[in-house]
Amino acid sequence: MLELATADGRVPADDARKDSPLAVRGLTVSYGEKPAVFSVDMTVPKGSMTAIIGPNGAGKSTMLKAVLGIVKPLSGQVEVFGCPLADQRARIAYVPQRASVDWDFPTRVIDVVLMGLYREVGLLGRLRGAHVDRARSCLDRVGMAAFADRQIGQLSGGQQQRVFLARALAQDADLYLLDEPFAGVDAATEKAIIAVLKSLKSEGKTVVAVHHDLATVRDYFDHVFLINVRRIAEGPVDEAFTAETLQEAYGGRLASTQVDQLSAVLA
Ligand code: ADP
Ligand code: MG
Repeated sequence: MLELATADGRVPADDARKDSPLAVRGLTVSYGEKPAVFSVDMTVPKGSMTAIIGPNGAGKSTMLKAVLGIVKPLSGQVEVFGCPLADQRARIAYVPQRASVDWDFPTRVIDVVLMGLYREVGLLGRLRGAHVDRARSCLDRVGMAAFADRQIGQLSGGQQQRVFLARALAQDADLYLLDEPFAGVDAATEKAIIAVLKSLKSEGKTVVAVHHDLATVRDYFDHVFLINVRRIAEGPVDEAFTAETLQEAYGGRLASTQVDQLSAVLA
């Protein structure tokens, strides 16, 4: 088999890839002429909490969408637990970027969480009391049990985000993909979400999140993947999240607040 070295010259061992909940090879995605993601390799370690980091427009959301088959790549392979995506769909839960969800019609919170069970129940299958109990316990896990019968559209952004996490939990997946789960949420929600993600990790699940707050990377994650259309760096936080890799990923595009965060983090 032809071995392709990754950008930093490391070649992940075959075993590491087969074991990986999410391995991406040579992924290129384009919406127009210019690729949004170009020839990207990524190997997410099993049981890790991996942050996908990069500037606005770097292709972070596009990567997740390509992994999930929501956008069609020009080229590349995605393997989930060593198998093609189609065979492993039920093992992946996805929490999209919050702004992308629009609630035009009334939907109760508990029904949003029950949507997480549709793959298991089947569209025409019957939801039973046990399913509703499970949905309620997932709401409880994110501190939203008291809101089960409220309309989702009436909740704050942070509360909605917790409900979407509860929906992902209801799926009982092995791999959790989240797109900026902390963007625009209140501090209590951020704490609740990170506690849940850490408990998933302690259960042996794998969490991959697009993350924009450089100041919390070290606290929240053990593995990072830096991207700016191309893959910039990948590895344990201590090795791959450095002044050099961040400079390379962000170039001159770090906002002054981010520079302040960084000097604090990297000091
Ligand atoms: P990120 O999540 O890192 O901010 P995205 O993956 O959303 O970046 O976008 C990467 C690039 O692709 C950006 O230049 C963005 O404008 C473009 N893009 C994203 N979605 C679409 C789309 N549906 N149609 C056309 N261009 C898009
Ligand atoms: Mg995005």
